[in-house]
Amino acid sequence: MVRMAGVQKHFGDLHVLRDIDLDVARGEVVVVLGPSGSGKSTLCRTINRLEPIDTGTIEIDGTALAAEGKALAALRADVGMVFQSFNLFAHKTILENVTLAPLKVRGASKAEAEKTGLALLERVGIANQRDKYPAQLSGGQQQRAAIARALAMKPKVMLFDEPTSALDPEMVNEVLDTMTSLAKEGMTMVVVTHEMGFARRAAHRVVFMSDGEIVEDSTPDDFFTAPRSDRAKDFLGKIL
Ligand code: ATP
Ligand code: MG
Repeated sequence: MVRMAGVQKHFGDLHVLRDIDLDVARGEVVVVLGPSGSGKSTLCRTINRLEPIDTGTIEIDGTALAAEGKALAALRADVGMVFQSFNLFAHKTILENVTLAPLKVRGASKAEAEKTGLALLERVGIANQRDKYPAQLSGGQQQRAAIARALAMKPKVMLFDEPTSALDPEMVNEVLDTMTSLAKEGMTMVVVTHEMGFARRAAHRVVFMSDGEIVEDSTPDDFFTAPRSDRAKDFLGKIL
């Protein structure tokens, strides 16, 4: 579903992605771990072309991401992204946040967009918040609204970049539970997170990055019980 091959990316002199090869199969959940500055966010941002790459290829469902213009917009719509900061539109209600892109980009009718939007809000457990504004919701509810908004575009892949890092501890689980159900329903997911419980429970694979490289790519079990590289051992030693 996602295929990155030989991807290189610099920010000036800084080599942030070093020859990245990564295949994510349909329905697979890949958790990306690694120290701060190792390139995890950049990796996510290149997957939906928020960041251009220097060389290499990125395919989504068999279509190369080098496309421009209209094709690029369609490819982006195939990739949903949820960030640490919820990024909801402050002056729109929760339902409006979820229906906006389908109305504008997918050309859905209002009735259709609202029906789908409500079903998604139902799915993430906040349908009763539909007419409120983002500031009136808890952080966990806002993040679930952001997930519903991304799902409204019917993405083929969902990227999560530290979706629970900005949340109060008591709200982390409601967001992780939402992500876990999404994974169980077969969504293809790339998840950057520091939640090791989630990684162990929900990931099919763990990708460990360090200094812009993929250093390990293994099952959660192997990664957590028998990391191969010194860099992964060091990382795990600090966080576990
Ligand atoms: P964290 O865990 O702190 O979120 P990360 O693994 O997500 O870290 P990135 O945000 O991908 O790391 O950053 C990788 C490197 O690229 C860092 O050294 C960062 O300072 C640098 N970087 C990221 N974005 C830019 C940018 N727009 N311009 C210049 N350098 C950048
Ligand atoms: Mg990051």
